[in-house]
Amino acid sequence: MTNRRKFITQAVLGGLGLSIGQAAKGATNGQSVTALPTVISTWNNLPANKKAWKVIKKGGSALDAVEQGVRVAEADPDDMSVGYGGRPDRDGKVTLDACIMDQEGNCGSVCFLQDIKHPISVARLVMEKTPHVMLAGEGALQFALENGFHRENLLTDKAAKSWEEWKQESHYQPVINIENHDTIGMLAIDKDGKLSGACTTSGAAFKLHGRVGDSPIVGAGLFVDNEVGAAVATGLGEAVVKTAGSFLVVELMRQGRSPQAACEEAIRRITSKQKGYQDFQVAFLAVNREGIIGAHAIHKGFMYALSREGGHEVVQASSSL
Ligand code: ASP
Repeated sequence: MTNRRKFITQAVLGGLGLSIGQAAKGATNGQSVTALPTVISTWNNLPANKKAWKVIKKGGSALDAVEQGVRVAEADPDDMSVGYGGRPDRDGKVTLDACIMDQEGNCGSVCFLQDIKHPISVARLVMEKTPHVMLAGEGALQFALENGFHRENLLTDKAAKSWEEWKQESHYQPVINIENHDTIGMLAIDKDGKLSGACTTSGAAFKLHGRVGDSPIVGAGLFVDNEVGAAVATGLGEAVVKTAGSFLVVELMRQGRSPQAACEEAIRRITSKQKGYQDFQVAFLAVNREGIIGAHAIHKGFMYALSREGGHEVVQASSSL
């Protein structure tokens, strides 16, 4: 995985130069750049970003863009932390978490959902068709089936093999580092300046059956406030939940911090209060309503995909360690 990331990053950075990433930083320094519209997402899923960008370029909404974008990751069997092909829990079940939030603060979420390939679209329906925010497990599945989704086996041979290998030792160490996750959190600002976000994951590999992480929890894995900006998290969900991470980043921006400073402070909260942070990864990615981006992680290796006028690229984020 690391090698794949390294290769793609180098290929993309080498091909495009740092133009749009530098533009993001330049904006932080007050230089003028064309920062909007913008699509950003955790890690290096350029196909997902490109899909979202296409929606925005056609005049689509940020909400449609993030849903369509992360569906690319959900359908990708090689993405072993999201949707189809995701690593199972320790009982061999693929259980999925996702949430979505729009410019008006509407949000929808599903957690502990099984057998449905596109939890993000179910989350959107929860937002649009129910008076609730979150549906879990059997109830989420029932709701999905009633709304036209179909049951599918999401456990690929590759993911089953990694579970078989894990079972030989079956140490339950829910450590999430740069080697074992690619959860996608995506934020977009459309041509009308509207912000939306989506986050979708199969969660920690080989987790306890029933474990839910930060990704479907509004305020932890994702938060959007169109007056200020938006943030997403990736990494060890338990650590993110304990600090209400994405909400914290947005609130820090509201108080005047730049997106970068807000992400750094949210990571500092984790490293100053939570034991064992040397052994797990958490990263935040944020954008304010002007399209200025911040990204910071505990450990080196976090990166994000950025799409703007001028191209798509993968940008390395800063880290505390
Ligand atoms: N945050 C996700 C979780 O804890 C995992 C990840 O980002 O890879 O479920």
